[in-house]
Formats: sequence, structure tokens, C-alpha cells
Amino acid sequence: MTNYIFITGGVVSALGKGIASASLGALLESRGLNVSFAKLDPYINVDPGTMSPFQHGEVFVTVDGAETDLDLGHYERFVRTTMSKNNNFTTGQIYANVIDKERQGQYLGATVQVIPHITDEIKACIELSANNADVALIEIGGTVGDIESLPFLEAIRQMRVSFGRHVLFMHLTLVPYIKTAGEVKTKPTQHSVKELRSIGIQPDILLCRSEEAMSDEERAKIALFTNVPSESVISLMDVDNIYKIPQLLHQQKLDELMIQQLQLSAPPANLSDWDAVIAKSEQTQHQVNVAMVGKYVHLTDSYKSLSEALIHAGIHTQTKVNIVYVDSEKIETDGIRCLENMDAILVPGGFGERGIEGKIATVRFAREHKIPYLGICLGMQLAVIEFARHQLGLTQANSTEFDSNTPDPVIALITEWQDQSGTIETRHQDSALGGSMRLGGQACQLMRGSLIHKVYNKHEIVERHRHRYEFNHCYLSDLQQAGLVISGKSLDGQLVEVIEIADHPWFIGCQFHPEFTSTPRDGHPLFSSFIEASYQFQQSKTSEKQKNTKGFPS
Ligand code: GLN
Repeated sequence: MTNYIFITGGVVSALGKGIASASLGALLESRGLNVSFAKLDPYINVDPGTMSPFQHGEVFVTVDGAETDLDLGHYERFVRTTMSKNNNFTTGQIYANVIDKERQGQYLGATVQVIPHITDEIKACIELSANNADVALIEIGGTVGDIESLPFLEAIRQMRVSFGRHVLFMHLTLVPYIKTAGEVKTKPTQHSVKELRSIGIQPDILLCRSEEAMSDEERAKIALFTNVPSESVISLMDVDNIYKIPQLLHQQKLDELMIQQLQLSAPPANLSDWDAVIAKSEQTQHQVNVAMVGKYVHLTDSYKSLSEALIHAGIHTQTKVNIVYVDSEKIETDGIRCLENMDAILVPGGFGERGIEGKIATVRFAREHKIPYLGICLGMQLAVIEFARHQLGLTQANSTEFDSNTPDPVIALITEWQDQSGTIETRHQDSALGGSMRLGGQACQLMRGSLIHKVYNKHEIVERHRHRYEFNHCYLSDLQQAGLVISGKSLDGQLVEVIEIADHPWFIGCQFHPEFTSTPRDGHPLFSSFIEASYQFQQSKTSEKQKNTKGFPS
């Protein structure tokens, strides 16, 4: 039977509930248990696919093609289990399911209500997400006290009644340090637990976010006021590296506490993988500056998986990676100079027209100055446009996403070019909003002898997609003749997946998103190779400089 750990949050949002939940998963996995996750989001959107990255952060894409909350990315980075569309539910989706059933007459004339129909649907989704794991970690989005999350809390309250000791409630709160008083304050935690208890949930374990480790007295005080044993008041202090959190929790015996409360038996924790990650990340030998030129640079959560993937690459190449976020609109107004000292340039995925010309100027700069370049999804499409404009002389080349009247649509919807090129059968027919996207894990064949083939050391890879537009086959041979290398294609050979530039030391554009499969323990070959190339480029700049200064009289 599956055991459930429900993680709620109190006091304020953005306490890192996702990372805390993921770390709990890593800890349980280190004890040989099989874990699963679910994130329940209290908003009305059916999924975050249509939500602005400016507001909501990154949309994480699962291998089965679901557009989900970024917390699923944290889960996949901390445990070996792969997430699917069944691991993220929103209020909108729950209501949509219930309304569908009502329309089909499945409620047999009953008055359909929040309790029991919505709560039953929530419970069904939770059980579906558990997928027979030993322990299912269920994170409730939002903050206790919000109106929106009440049905979720009611559902999990009911689950404790049904499953008894197989259910554990964990509550994440904030214990702030008040500078002027020179002490930490436990009152917000007391109030948050009071709020939770008023809806019938007594937490079993408290995870307290604080700047420093809490003293035994502070833990005892919280215990007294919240009715939680003091050994179950866990101090989750700030750390310089999120991958230290499983260790931090283990040091406070949290794994033992969870296992005892759920009455499970499990071997002792083996955190050697995580020890290795930390040890490697503390043995960096050099550092590089990587420019990330995008649109959502003011909310770095928008590029969460990407920035983590670069950090993982640093761990695996003993390099400290400094990510320099550059707003591509600023390049349009202030020019390209801000990229001059960079060791590598990355243009990430994105949607819409804003800042596009700044990104194209960025690609040109990387290509002409032979700076290592990685273009992901939109970053690959813009590399094709830049190449068509400046190497093939198609000065108005564009994507139909940004200019529907361009005379040279080198990037376009398949439906816009398939007739002309006489290739593609109708392979993407879903027309619902978001439905025309190519989503999820898809296989791609790599061309022998290419850089990407060397990087992956494989003929066939599977990576995740999230885009509507594609490389236009009608321009394939012209672009190839001008020196663009097509080094990856879909298995049927009809869609371009990877492009390179022959006379450039490291220039790769990929239509897929490799960042979704990078983990701290395993890294990712594409990002590791990119970071290695950035270090080599930095070294070549230094030796070039030394050469140039030689010969001058001292
Ligand atoms: N906007 C582009 C498309 O839809 C690229 C999407 C992306 O970068 N994820 O094809």
C-alpha cells in the first residue's frame, strides 16, 4: 500500500516547497524506497502551458508531453523517477474533470458539490499520481489560509481519516530573523499551524525555513505551541547549494522520523551520490562567463531547468559557471558590447516577437567571433534565420511567427511549407490551444561525424520538445550549400532537429530542450561539452593575448 506525505506551506509563498519536497524524495530514495510526486496547483488554468513565464516561471515539459509546473523539474533533478502528465493537477483540471462527468450524467442526478465531488476527484488524482510507489509525496501549492487551496486541504484531511498511519502531514513555514530585535520569531509559524489545525489538519512534522540553524530552545518553543514533538521541528536553514538539502535533512534524522511514523522498514540512508555531487561542486578549477540572452531575464525562474543544467555541467567539468543574464531588447538599444567578454553564448527557448532582432544580432556575434554558441529551440530557429540572412543573402529571412509576410520563411509552421516541399504527411493535427505544439520526448537521429554525434556519442537520442514552428525544408539544400550543417533529424528524416556551422569550433542549435533531462548526478553531455568549449575558448583568448604582447620592448 502506498504511503502519503502531504507537504503544505505557510506564512509566505516562495519558501522553496518544491525543492524541500524534492529533497524529501531524494532522502527516501536513498533509503531504498520507491517514491512518486504530485504537485496540486490551486489556480483555474487547466495547465501552466498558457501562463506567462514572467509570472509563473518556467513551464516544465514531461517526457509524455505535458506542460507542467516547474516543481516537477525539481523532482526529476532530485530522484530517479520520471514525471508524467499524472503528476501535476490544477483546480481548473479537477473542475474540468468533474464538469465532464456531470455532462455525461455520471453523477446520476446528484447535486454536484465541492464536497464530496470535487474532493473525491482530488483524491482520485492523488491516488493516480502515486502509481503504486512506496511513498507518494504530494505538494499542495499556495499558502495555508488561501481560499483557493481549501478543497485540496479538505481532501487530504479526509485521506488521513481513510488511511490513518499511512498519511503524514508536513508543513513548511518561515521563522524570520528580526534584525532590530536581534532574534528569530516563532509567532508566524504558530499562527500558520493554528490555521491548519482549524481545518482539521495537525501537522506531524514542521520544516522551518530560517537564515541560520535554529537553537534547541527555539525548536522547543515551536513544539510547545504547535503540538508537534520538538524532534519533529526541523531546521531548514539557507544553504549555498540546494543539492546539500538532502544531507541537511538527514543530519536531523528526518528520514528516520518519516519512516518510523509511516511504520516502514528500510535500509540505512546511502547518500553517497549526493556526497559526490557536493564534493565535485566544491572542487572547481576554473570559471567561465556564459551569457544567457533572452526575454525573461528579470525572473530567472523562467529559465530554471536551463540554469540548473549549466550548474550541473559546471559540477561535471569542475568549472564555476557564472550565468550572465542579458535582456535581448537591451542589445537592440545599446548594442552587442555587453557580450564582448563572454566565454560562451546561449539563446534559450521563447515565444513572441519581443527582443528577436537583439537575439539575431547575438547569434551573428557568436558565429563571426567563433564564440561557443548553444541555441535552444527558438535559439536554433534564430541561428537558421541569421545564417540565411548573412550567409545566404536572404536579407529578409524570418520565421512566420514574427513576420507572416516574410519572402523567405526559413522557419514556419509545417502546414505553411509541407505542400511546397511535398514531404510531410499530416502529423500534427491537434488544433486546440497549445495542441498544435510538438510536445514531449521524441527520437532524433544524429549524423555521424558531426559535433553533436561526438557530444552524445550516440546515433539516436530522445529529447523533449515544446514548439510550433519548424525548419522549412524548402530551404534545406540552399542553406546546406552555404555551409549550414544539418546534423540531427527526426527519425522519419522530415524535421530538422540539430544544426551546426562547419567552420566554427562549437556552434550547435537544437530544436529540442536538453535542459529538461539534465540532473546534478548525471549532468548532460550537451551542456558539459558546451562548458568545456567555453573554457577552451577562454584559454585561447588568453594565449592570443599573450602572443600579441610578446615582441614589445619591456
Ligand atoms: N516560438 C518558437 C516555436 O513555437 C520556439 C518555441 C521554444 O523556443 N520553445 O516554435
